[in-house]
Amino acid sequence: MQIDVDRIPKEGLKIRRDFDFPSLELVEECVVFLQPVHADVAVDKIGEEVRVKGRVTAHLSFVCSRCLTPFEFPVDSRFDLVFLPEELHELKDGLGEEDLDQLFYKDREIDIREVILEQLNLTFPAKPLCSEGCEGICAVCGQIRRDSHCACLAQEPEGRLSQLKNLLKDKR
Ligand SMILES: [Zn+2]
Ligand SMILES: [Zn+2]
Repeated sequence: MQIDVDRIPKEGLKIRRDFDFPSLELVEECVVFLQPVHADVAVDKIGEEVRVKGRVTAHLSFVCSRCLTPFEFPVDSRFDLVFLPEELHELKDGLGEEDLDQLFYKDREIDIREVILEQLNLTFPAKPLCSEGCEGICAVCGQIRRDSHCACLAQEPEGRLSQLKNLLKDKR
């Protein structure tokens, strides 16, 4: 969804719509969209500067990186971005003033879909967890610890440690 920078009216643009993203485009592969991604965006042009401000909401399902159970993940993220024309980037490069956080638009266009995708990806956790204290899967019996409360877990790390100690003793 390209926005022509030169055709942004004085009063700005309001974009309110849903977006669909294939999971290929997401930083996290095991994501299921329970609802389409909704974006509410205001685009304003001040001189050559384009301000893209808005909110992205979504309802996703992630797979917990510890216990592999799917869990729901609501996204409600606000953003406020300023884009400058690409020509300014080249100018800055020449001066050796690289500002990594600065965004630029190319060919007098801004792809709003890309902006939304980027914002969505930013909300994703590096390691999705169903809960902060998820204990994952028991290495002994293979059950999800949260559900099974199996008895083997409590002693497991201790057991391994003493096994290792014994092994070291034997070697001496
Ligand atoms: Zn989990
Ligand atoms: Zn167990």
